[in-house]
Amino acid sequence: MDYGGYSSGAVQLAVDLANTHYDDPQTLVDFLAAHRDWFATRTRLRLTPEERGAIAQLGRGVRAVVEAGEEAAVIDRLNDLLAGADVRPRMTNHDGTLHVHYSRGGASAVEQLTTTVAVGMALLVMDAGWTRLGLCAAEDCQDVFVDTSRNSSRRFCSETCASRAGVAAYRSRQRGASR
Ligand SMILES: [Zn+2]
Ligand SMILES: [Zn+2]
Repeated sequence: MDYGGYSSGAVQLAVDLANTHYDDPQTLVDFLAAHRDWFATRTRLRLTPEERGAIAQLGRGVRAVVEAGEEAAVIDRLNDLLAGADVRPRMTNHDGTLHVHYSRGGASAVEQLTTTVAVGMALLVMDAGWTRLGLCAAEDCQDVFVDTSRNSSRRFCSETCASRAGVAAYRSRQRGASR
């Protein structure tokens, strides 16, 4: 499924954030380093405790959108995310491809991340529908994902979770049959 160049990348960023243990400072540092390309070149990524708190809050906000479960609540929670955004679009080709950045040049890491994630989620929901956002159905996994399957049928965050759940279902059928 194609749901647009910007939103697919930005939504993956949002999903990665929601699935990160952002309350742990080192994990958050690693997350920012792994997603360095999303930030303007001179962005300060060494965060204060307050900024780390703001990013954790953003991660919880993304999860809240995914868990909302019906359109009106999805819209409310998306608007909560967008309220923290400061959108000032500009064209850039910093990575060799011409594209739009939605946050101001010179904005803090928190502001850039908030804006990118909020706009990305909003564009996805607008273009592809909120039902594309999913929560992994495996018993011990809470990860969120974007369903890019053709018939919108995905239930698990990863192949790993899908096959673990398949094995569990098989075992429980076996137990049922031997009773
Ligand atoms: Zn860029
Ligand atoms: Zn999972």
